[in-house]
Amino acid sequence: MYDVIIIGSGPAGLSAAVYAARAGLRFAVIEKEYMGTGQIAYTERVDNYLGYYGTDGFSLGEKFREHAEMLGTEFIECEVTGLSAFSGGWRIETSDGDIIKSKTVIYAAGAAPKKLGIPGEAEFAGRGVSYCALCDGEFFREKNIAVIGGGDTALSDALYLAKMAEKVYVVHRRDSFRANNSLTEKVSECKNVEFVLNAVPVEITGDEAVTGLKVKQNGAERAIEADGIFAAVGSVPNTAILKEIAELDENGYVIADERCITSANGLFAAGDVRTKEVRQVITAAADGANAVVSAEKYLNKYI
Ligand code: NAP
Repeated sequence: MYDVIIIGSGPAGLSAAVYAARAGLRFAVIEKEYMGTGQIAYTERVDNYLGYYGTDGFSLGEKFREHAEMLGTEFIECEVTGLSAFSGGWRIETSDGDIIKSKTVIYAAGAAPKKLGIPGEAEFAGRGVSYCALCDGEFFREKNIAVIGGGDTALSDALYLAKMAEKVYVVHRRDSFRANNSLTEKVSECKNVEFVLNAVPVEITGDEAVTGLKVKQNGAERAIEADGIFAAVGSVPNTAILKEIAELDENGYVIADERCITSANGLFAAGDVRTKEVRQVITAAADGANAVVSAEKYLNKYI
């Protein structure tokens, strides 16, 4: 039986692995994607992780992973399909049909892109609708693109896509951006980017593939011609399997403070799955450390 099973290999999970290794715990990281490093891998540029100004997200994730590997982390590649408590620990069911037992679990499964929920979105998924600029941007070289959203993801996607697209529309439902100012400024300096503000997306249109986006702007309908629609409207936590196990808030985040202690004994939540103000790589990495310290205290019967 393991002392700790860490579910997720993003910054929170890998940071937890480093702390668990240094604490001499018997542990493993369960990862859904082979050699995965979470959502950070799809971020073009990270300017706010201490010591790595201007790095790309993929390289930063690789550095985290190398660090965890260097300390002897065992990785188990599979999907967790079920989680249940028994006296003395947790039973983790996997997509391979295995059952792994552990005294504690650090749940760091991250989040997935939120859907727009408008007509045409599901119909044109993979035919012009994308949730990952880094993965799919190349398909829209010298074409017109609409990026939807006003946060850091939307603006950094726009910056990346502007390098290859003919034209990028940034469609945001309000008149001010949520993204940080320096990023917004950089995007506004791109000659082929147009901000479409106060515009609520209502439909993605097309035939064989996407041809445009209809928005409601200041009360009037407007059609934007676009071959690619990149939705960057936030994310939803991957917490479905915790529904009957731990207390979640109304948006599905696991209720836990910075000690990462959840309402279930021996279950700790780290990274984007946890209720918190700031969801960044640096706060995810901090969670990994805190979750291991809490797990150690739990194992030693201090909590
Ligand atoms: P976010 O900050 O939650 O922003 C989502 C954006 O989408 C908001 O502007 C929101 O509009 C808009 N939106 C939400 N639902 C919508 C809908 N149904 N239709 C149209 N627009 C909708 O999400 P995020 O940009 O993915 O960022 C998540 C976290 O990751 C943040 O903490 C962010 O700082 C961080 N992040 C950091 C970096 C970096 O540092 N390099 C890169 C990416 C993300 P409103 O503004 O009106 O609510």
